[in-house]
Amino acid sequence: MGELDQRPYFFDEGIRFACQQCGACCTGAPGVVRVSDSEIASIAAFLGLSVEATVDRTLVVWEAGHSVREDRDGRCLFYEDGCRIYPVRPNQCRTFPFWVSLLRSEARWHSIRRHCPGIGKGRRYSGAEIVDVLADSIEPRRSFDVTRNPSSSRPDGIEP
Ligand code: SF4
Repeated sequence: MGELDQRPYFFDEGIRFACQQCGACCTGAPGVVRVSDSEIASIAAFLGLSVEATVDRTLVVWEAGHSVREDRDGRCLFYEDGCRIYPVRPNQCRTFPFWVSLLRSEARWHSIRRHCPGIGKGRRYSGAEIVDVLADSIEPRRSFDVTRNPSSSRPDGIEP
């Protein structure tokens, strides 16, 4: 991780997090959930579909890759009383809420806390663990700095 794990952060004492499955981060205003080619293959295998059918039915082209298709109201296509592909959910979902875009400042973090009831609950992730998750969320991504709709109840368009 290099210098990233050498610096002091407001989360050095750790942060409790346990997803409450409320779906707030899977619904709401439109957003982008990037899906890599290897993730598409995993989702296809999980759904018992071909890669082509998975792309056609569940994804949209976004930049040079793909994003998860959404309903008109912004609900993730895979969200139906819970995530239908939870074991193979994309990295962007798996690493939420420990994203650089959310942890880059304490003020930003406190604002996202209001939208995610899982923050502050469950086991405490140590500062080192959080840095590891941050690294995991960064590496496959080119950018991690977009907030399309900061007033939304959903952390939309925020990319790790
Ligand atoms: S907003 Fe938080 S608690 Fe709700 S589904 Fe997303 S991660 Fe889980």
